[in-house]
Order: sequence, then structure tokens, then C-alpha cells
Amino acid sequence: MKKLFDKMYKDSAKSFYEILSKNLKDEKRMFVVTANPETFMISDTDKEMEKLLCDKKTVIVPDGIGVVKASHMLGLDVKERITGVDIAAELLKLGDEQNKSIYLFGSKQEVIASLTKVIEENYPNLKIAGATNGYEKEKDKLFSEAAKTNPDIILVALGIPNQEKIIYRHLEEFKKGIFVGVGGTFDVLSGYKKRAPKIFINLNLEWLYRIMKEPKRFKRFWNNNVKFLLKIRKER
Ligand code: UDP
Repeated sequence: MKKLFDKMYKDSAKSFYEILSKNLKDEKRMFVVTANPETFMISDTDKEMEKLLCDKKTVIVPDGIGVVKASHMLGLDVKERITGVDIAAELLKLGDEQNKSIYLFGSKQEVIASLTKVIEENYPNLKIAGATNGYEKEKDKLFSEAAKTNPDIILVALGIPNQEKIIYRHLEEFKKGIFVGVGGTFDVLSGYKKRAPKIFINLNLEWLYRIMKEPKRFKRFWNNNVKFLLKIRKER
């Protein structure tokens, strides 16, 4: 697990967005994994996930506060959280500024429809190359079809680890593209769900807000975070 922390992006969100902007402009292919404790826990038992995270082409950023704190416990100078929702919002902005195209893959059909509207209204220069909801059966086939639209940005909202795995399986079929597995981000960007109020974000309690809003998340949170903390202690 330590080797994944070593390769994680450690600088500020601002500097990361500069890299995103440059790669988008230069049409470089880039795969970003926004890591939470769950990401590392899954990679411990799931070989496919471990392989994609270890791949030197994969960029891992610290999404959850648990990952930032664990990095500090391991003596690494990780500056701050760089969240999936902030990256997705930044990519919409950059895509609009640079007249790029986006493919939306995942989440419910009505969420996709609302997000499409939000993009058309607020990011008029960002072309929607295509969109596929995350409840279709033949996802791999549909992902390959998405490659044919040659998008500049590909956001995948299927939940961890499916979103990361499908991106990794098909990466080489795309000539270019910034790929990010964004979890529940479409729900927030489309206005379907509210992101935590600023006070929760600033106090590093966004996880608590999500559990309060959706108590069924508690088990998932508890299992991953407690085991994660024990692992980090051992690694130390
Ligand atoms: N999802 C999907 N297909 C599925 C299962 C989930 O498209 O078969 C979507 C779901 O609608 C949601 C996202 O994947 O938009 C996962 O969101 P979640 O909040 O669980 O992710 P987190 O942000 O916690 O990683």
C-alpha cells in the first residue's frame, strides 16, 4: 500500500488543475483516480484494481481526508484534498474555455439528462460527444462505442471500482482524453443531490454530511475506514 502513497499526487489542487489544463490542450491521454480509503482497501484484495493503480500512467489524487491524514502518518507531504467533484467541475470549465468535448458515462438516465442541461446552459462551448447511463447491460460495448466519438474529457460515474476498471480496460481504444472515475459527482453537478455545506467541507467533515444524508453509507464508511487506519498504523 505504501508504494501507492509514494506515487500519489502531493502538490496543491491549483497546480493539479494546471496539469489538467495543459494535458487537455495538448490532447494528452490521462487517467485520474480520486482515492478514498476504500480505493486502497479494495486494491489490497483485488488484483485488477491493484494493477491499474500501480500502472505508472495512472495518476492518483487524494480525494478523501482519510487519505490525506494517512499520508501524513506515513511521513508524506500531501498538501490537500483534490476531490472528484472539484476535478469534474474544473474540467467542465476548462473544456468550455478550450472548446473541447465531453462524454458522460454512468449514473441514472434522469441525472444524465439534468447534467446535460446544466452543461448546455452554463458551458456552451463544451460539446457533449455523447452520454450513456450506468444501468445499461453491455457497458463494455458501449464504452468502446464512446471511444469512436473521440471525446476530450470522459467522466465515468459507476462507483468504485467499476468506474476505474472500465476506464482501464478501454484506455488504449481512445486516441486522447482526460479520464476520471467520479463516483456520485453527476448527482451533485446535475443538482440532484446537494454537496455538503462549506462549513462541513472546511472542517474536513464532508464524509459525515454524506452519512447524515444517506445513513446506509455508514457501514461502507466504517468498514473501510477502520480497517484502513489499522493498516496504515501497521505500515508505519
Ligand atoms: N451507478 C451506476 N450504475 C450502477 C451502480 C451505480 O451508474 O450499476 C452510479 C450511481 O447512480 C451513482 C454512482 O454510480 O451516480 C456512484 O455513486 P456513489 O455515491 O456510490 O459514489 P461515491 O461518490 O460514494 O464513490
